[in-house]
Amino acid sequence: MERTPISIIIDDPAPLIHVYREHAGGNKCNALGEPLKDRVPTDFLEEFCDTVEHFGICGKFTIVPMPGCLGDIVNGIEGCDQTEVERWLRIANDRLSPYFDFCPEMLTHHYAVDLENGGFLEENEELWSRHQTRATLTPYITRALELLKAAGIRPTGVSSPWGFGARVEKDYSAAIADAFKAVFDLDKSWYFCRFKTGVPNTRPTVSHRENGLQTVAIACTCNDVFWQSIDSERTDPDYLNAIADQLISADGLRGQIIDCLENGSYPVILTHWQSMFSNGRRTGLAALREVGRRVDTLLGDRVRWTKFSSLMDMAIAEDNYHPL
Ligand SMILES: [Zn+2]
Repeated sequence: MERTPISIIIDDPAPLIHVYREHAGGNKCNALGEPLKDRVPTDFLEEFCDTVEHFGICGKFTIVPMPGCLGDIVNGIEGCDQTEVERWLRIANDRLSPYFDFCPEMLTHHYAVDLENGGFLEENEELWSRHQTRATLTPYITRALELLKAAGIRPTGVSSPWGFGARVEKDYSAAIADAFKAVFDLDKSWYFCRFKTGVPNTRPTVSHRENGLQTVAIACTCNDVFWQSIDSERTDPDYLNAIADQLISADGLRGQIIDCLENGSYPVILTHWQSMFSNGRRTGLAALREVGRRVDTLLGDRVRWTKFSSLMDMAIAEDNYHPL
């Protein structure tokens, strides 16, 4: 029997910067009242890579090019040693490339960049996106791709900070195609901006096709069950198992991954760098290891971990075309 693709979205990583903290409102604390850590150290990336390699977990991995409006990954980030930024990028590129496709998540995951005059606008990137068009989104995405390219990273798609682009998705998907053609001479690319948890038969679709260029929309079908670990002191095995259970129970009979397999959807799990990091406790990453172990031992004959570029290629090969 053909095995169903399973994939994971890692939104919000950037070298060293805890992107979630930068755009967090108020006093920048979690629900326990602990200050959110201002750095996510490189050894956490290395621990994530160990997990990915051990279980063969595949999907897509964001690298925010101008994290938190603190500079950029090529020319330097405020308060960060550029040698360490480059070491982080090299580890991500070398160790994750076999398993993950890279993408920007627009430029800052914070305030929108003023491309014409420099500096930042008053709106965050999502609010800004709501009144943009193909003509203004294309240079914005182009800038993000150029920064990753200059840093030696080769993205194949884009992710959307918050709901970036969802309200102008037709223009957004066309702009993604135009930007990838301009920067990498690629005729196909993918993007993630939709949540379709519980929606039967959710599979990647070609959402834009024009002059030989195609864009594939890939929605998530499983929620970020790891997020809760940001706001909890617990790291005990019962807690890790309870998180993993929401995706796949210990007997392999229940959970959001199983729901997807039963309703005709590809399991595409959403999570975030901050959900893996758990404000330094790394509880989310430990729970991901339990999910990886369960998928491996209980679903080995039903699913195969799949990169986003492969999901894209499948949608194109199957001609799963649903224009916006
Ligand atoms: Zn995000």
